[in-house]
Amino acid sequence: MFLSADKIHNGHQFLPENTLLEIDESGVIVAVLEGGTIGEIQHFEGILCPGFVNVHCHLELSHLKGAISEKTGLTSFLQQVVGLRNQFSEEQKLWARNKAFQEMLDNGIVALGDIANTSDTLSLREKDMLHWQTFVESIGFAPERAAHSFDIAQKILIEFEGQIPQEKTLQQSIVPHAPYSVSADLLQLISSQSADKIISIHNQESAAENELYDSKTGPFIEFYTALGIDNTSFVASGQNSLPSYGNHLSDLHTTILVHNTFSEKEDIDFAQSKFEQLFWCLCPNANLYIENRLPNINLLFDSGASICIGTDSLASNHQLSVMAELETIHQFYPQIGWEQLLQWATYNGACALQMQQSIGSFEVGKRPGIVHIKNDYSFQKLY
Ligand SMILES: [Zn+2]
Repeated sequence: MFLSADKIHNGHQFLPENTLLEIDESGVIVAVLEGGTIGEIQHFEGILCPGFVNVHCHLELSHLKGAISEKTGLTSFLQQVVGLRNQFSEEQKLWARNKAFQEMLDNGIVALGDIANTSDTLSLREKDMLHWQTFVESIGFAPERAAHSFDIAQKILIEFEGQIPQEKTLQQSIVPHAPYSVSADLLQLISSQSADKIISIHNQESAAENELYDSKTGPFIEFYTALGIDNTSFVASGQNSLPSYGNHLSDLHTTILVHNTFSEKEDIDFAQSKFEQLFWCLCPNANLYIENRLPNINLLFDSGASICIGTDSLASNHQLSVMAELETIHQFYPQIGWEQLLQWATYNGACALQMQQSIGSFEVGKRPGIVHIKNDYSFQKLY
C-alpha cells in the first residue's frame, strides 16, 4: 500500500514533495520512496508523521481531572493533589485510568513515559497497545528515609519487571520525584541503578524550587511545615536547584528533565555539559495550568537542547494530547516551525525513552504508527 501527502515528516524533517510511504497492512514501513507512481496511491491533504511519544504522564492521577483549581502555583497544587488523590473509590480511579488511556490512543500516542507511585497501571500495560517506560517514583526529603524510600520503590518496580513483554516494549526504572522531595542520599541510591535505566525528574517547575535551593526560604518552607516534612538536614547551596542537586545524579544514565519552567542559562549550560544523554521534556499546558507560565523555549533551543514533549497528568491538564502541547508551543513561540515541533514529538521522544529502534521515525522495518494532521490541525491516527 502506498501513501502520499502534501507533506510527509519522517520524524526528523519534512521529506521532498513527491515522497511515497509504502506500508504493509499492519503499518510496518516497507519503503520510503522518492517519486514514481507505483500502483494505487492514497493521498492525504496536510501532513503525515510518525506516532507521537508522550514522555511524561501520570496515568494513575487521571481521576483528578477537573478537581484541582488552576493557576494557584506549584505548592498549592501539590497540597491539593495530596489532599484529593485518595478521596476516590478504586472503581472511580479505574474508570478514569481506562478512559485516559483510550484518549491517548485516540490522540495518536504510541509510546508513554508514565510516572507510577503505585502498580495501578499494570493492567493497562498488559493490553499491549502502547510502548511503555514506567518511571517508579521515589520520594523522601529527609536523608535518613532514603533507604526506606528506595525500598518501597523497588517493591513496586519488581511488580512491573514481572510483566512479560508481548509485541510492545515494557521498560521500568526508579526515578526521583523532584528536587524538593528527595535527599542527596536518595538521589545517589537511584543513581546506583544499572546504566541502561532511564532517569526522569521534575525540574525547576516553580520559582519556589530555585528559592529553596538558593536560600532555604520561600513557599516550600511553608509547604514542609503544612505536610509535617522534616527539612532540618537540607542546606541551601546559594545556587538554583539544577546545578545543586544535579551533581548527585550519575551522568551515565539517559536523563530526562521535565518542565524546566524556571531553568536559566547557567542551569541549562550546567546540565548540557554534565549529562551525556540529556532530554528536556516540555509539558506547556500543565505549566499554564499550575503556574500560568511557560519555559524559555527559545533559550533551550538556542542552547542545543534535545527537546521532547509530555502531557503531564489530567490533574494538571484538560487532555492527554501531544498535539495539543505542540499547538500551545506554536501559539506562544510562532517562530518555532512544525518541522521542529514534530521532531520533538516523535523522534526525540523515542530517543528519550530509548525506543528509537522501533518507533519515532519512518524507517524501513519500523512500525512507528502514522498520524494524519489536517490543515486545520485536527488529526487522526491511521495506523
Ligand atoms: Zn509530572
